Parts: sequence; C-alpha cells; structure tokens
Amino acid sequence: MSMSKELVLRAEGKCELCGSEDELSMLVIPPKSGASIDDQVALCSVCIEHSDNPDQIDAHHWRCLTESIWSTVSAVQVLAY
Ligand SMILES: [Zn+2]
Repeated sequence: MSMSKELVLRAEGKCELCGSEDELSMLVIPPKSGASIDDQVALCSVCIEHSDNPDQIDAHHWRCLTESIWSTVSAVQVLAY
C-alpha cells in the first residue's frame, strides 16, 4: 500500500519501528479503517513481514521496540505492544 504524504512526513521517510529507510510501506492498524494517519504506520519491508508473522519476530531487528513504545504516535504504540 502506498503511503500518504502526511504519513511520510510524520515518519520522516523512515520505518516508525526500526528507523530503516528500506522499502517503506503503509500499514493500517487493525481494527482501524486507515482513514486517518493516526491509524497508519510507516514500516519497512522487514517490519511489515514480521507484523504478519509475530511468531517469527527477529529479536535483533525489533530491539528498537523499547523506544518505539514511548512514541507519541498512538498507532505506533498500539503496534509496538
Ligand atoms: Zn522496520
């Protein structure tokens, strides 16, 4: 899914979980509709893949989560938990 301009600006062109700039895409936080950017997060391909397969989370890649949990962006907080 392509990202809205607002989301790109908020994320500063980086994955909102790990800060990677590779292959960013938009993820809508369920059960939200995604109509608002508060319901969306910008994630790199690795984080997107892991969000679909939580059992296969790479602890090394996700060590950033401790910081992400304190993000002021509610959608990022929801995903981090
Ligand atoms: Zn990432």
